[in-house]
Amino acid sequence: MNFDLSDDQLAFEETARQFAMQEFAPHAAQWDRDHHFPVEAIKKAGELGFCGLYTPESEGGLGLSRLDASIIFEQLSMGCTTTTAMLTIHNMATWMIATWGQEATKKQWCEVLVSGEKLASYCLTEPGAGSDAASLKTKATPVDNGYVLNGAKVFTILFNCFKGLAVFRDFIAPRR
Ligand SMILES: Cc1cc2nc3c(=O)[nH]c(=O)nc-3n(C[C@H](O)[C@H](O)[C@H](O)COP(=O)(O)OP(=O)(O)OC[C@H]3O[C@@H](n4cnc5c(N)ncnc54)[C@H](O)[C@@H]3O)c2cc1C
Repeated sequence: MNFDLSDDQLAFEETARQFAMQEFAPHAAQWDRDHHFPVEAIKKAGELGFCGLYTPESEGGLGLSRLDASIIFEQLSMGCTTTTAMLTIHNMATWMIATWGQEATKKQWCEVLVSGEKLASYCLTEPGAGSDAASLKTKATPVDNGYVLNGAKVFTILFNCFKGLAVFRDFIAPRR
């Protein structure tokens, strides 16, 4: 088996490395000191496709593999680990909406999430459930104009600046 990176993967790696060194690394320590969340830098990452790495191309993402995304995240994290952690979560939530969302939800959110114009997070963890996702208690009950959500969530990254949010467990699952 050949474990060498392909030419495409090497190009992704180099692009991410240059971006991280220019846009993240010079500011990372200051961002930490100031507790600053670098929305503008994330938007620049979106211009390169880093906000929708494995989101399907049909929804505006790059449609890359998880390995490709990992190679890119590895380089970005060398510029700023914290910002890259946010980007990994944003990528995951965006992929979820693009993959499992209802058509109207996808239409409303995918373009702005893939571009990094708006940010998404996810609400998995509850006071009584973390790793064991099968124990989640939050319920989404369909009503006329949407859903009523009932439950308690903790540990949600980006909560104070999110614009779109994937709430486990039933919220984004389409009613087929
Ligand atoms: C940096 C960071 C960012 C995060 N961001 C988010 C976020 O944006 N949104 C969000 O929802 N959550 C977020 N989390 C929370 C994260 O998802 C939870 O910490 C994770 O799911 C683990 O849950 P827990 O901390 O309750 O630990 P627990 O689930 O209580 O696990 C504690 C230990 O028990 C073990 N364990 C658990 N269940 C079993 C089992 N059935 N059998 C054997 N061993 C078991 C685990 O392996 C672990 O070692 C974040 C966490 C971190 C560290």
